Amino acid sequence: MYQAKHLGKNQLALYGSSMRGHSIRQLTLESDLQKALQRQEFQLLYQPILTLDSRQTVGVEALIRWDHPTRGLVAPADFIPVAEDTGLIVPIGWWVIETACEQLRCWSEHYHPLSMSLNISSRQFLEHDFVARVEEVIRRQQIQPHQLKLEITEGVAMHNPQIIARKFEQIQALGVRLMMDDFGTGYSSLNYLKSFSIDTLKIDRSFIDAMLQENGIEIIRTIINLAHNLNMDVVAEGVEHEDQAQRLVELGCEYGQGYLFAKPMDADRLKATVLDPKTGSLPAL
Ligand code: C2E
Ligand code: MG
Ligand code: MG
Ligand code: MG
Repeated sequence: MYQAKHLGKNQLALYGSSMRGHSIRQLTLESDLQKALQRQEFQLLYQPILTLDSRQTVGVEALIRWDHPTRGLVAPADFIPVAEDTGLIVPIGWWVIETACEQLRCWSEHYHPLSMSLNISSRQFLEHDFVARVEEVIRRQQIQPHQLKLEITEGVAMHNPQIIARKFEQIQALGVRLMMDDFGTGYSSLNYLKSFSIDTLKIDRSFIDAMLQENGIEIIRTIINLAHNLNMDVVAEGVEHEDQAQRLVELGCEYGQGYLFAKPMDADRLKATVLDPKTGSLPAL
């Protein structure tokens, strides 16, 4: 009895101190994140999205990294959640949109048109002036709206569905495309498709990973057919092996993204390996 109590107390103490450690780390991260924007410590990497049959790059997805002064390159999983909790994701998200559109305009002047996919946090998406500001960036950067694709996860749909549906319509009216990211991982993926108009569905990497396991192929086939029946394109995320790419082609999946084709890379490397007409050719969108 005494032992149990004693143990319980110790555990509580341990838990308490680790929680304190956690919140101190959280606070440091928060203030570092605040400075990171002013000091321009964020950067964007670009990962090609290709046609699976002919392996032509049709677009890229911009993926943020934080070049931290002492910690080195920090992955989004290690700071996006804190940025979301604190609201810093909104200014960070605008930096991403601005930077990616500027890059897109620069590439469009010299190369075949690409599309640019951007991950949009629901917090930023829900800002009342989100659509107007996107429109303003498109106009200022002089990019073709259809080159821009916004990747939204179903977390967005947890909010007032009428407001969300209206925002989706307004974005599509600009000519900007909407992609549903990480399809199949949330609680309400099907409900989401029923209520909202989406142009492209991205099959989450976990399904591609599990492709060769029991029922793996059937689930992917069903997702692809569902998307096509609803007039959506499909991108398979996280394609790492040639046999996965082959099976996806057989199943009618148009586009793929993954380490098999290319890892996320900086703009210079993308230019040298993918965009330069001497080393790579790009089809029209
Ligand atoms: P996501 O949008 O689903 O992005 C795909 C993630 O899978 C990226 O991780 C990418 O590097 C990784 N990936 C691509 N191909 C492969 C592959 O073949 N194998 C494996 N194992 N991984 C692959 P990353 O860059 O670490 O980004 C993680 C997540 O962070 C993203 O998932 C997205 O949800 C979020 N994120 C990234 N950039 C931004 C951003 O600018 N804004 C916001 N709000 N979120 C972002
Ligand atoms: Mg994404
Ligand atoms: Mg994804
Ligand atoms: Mg993901």
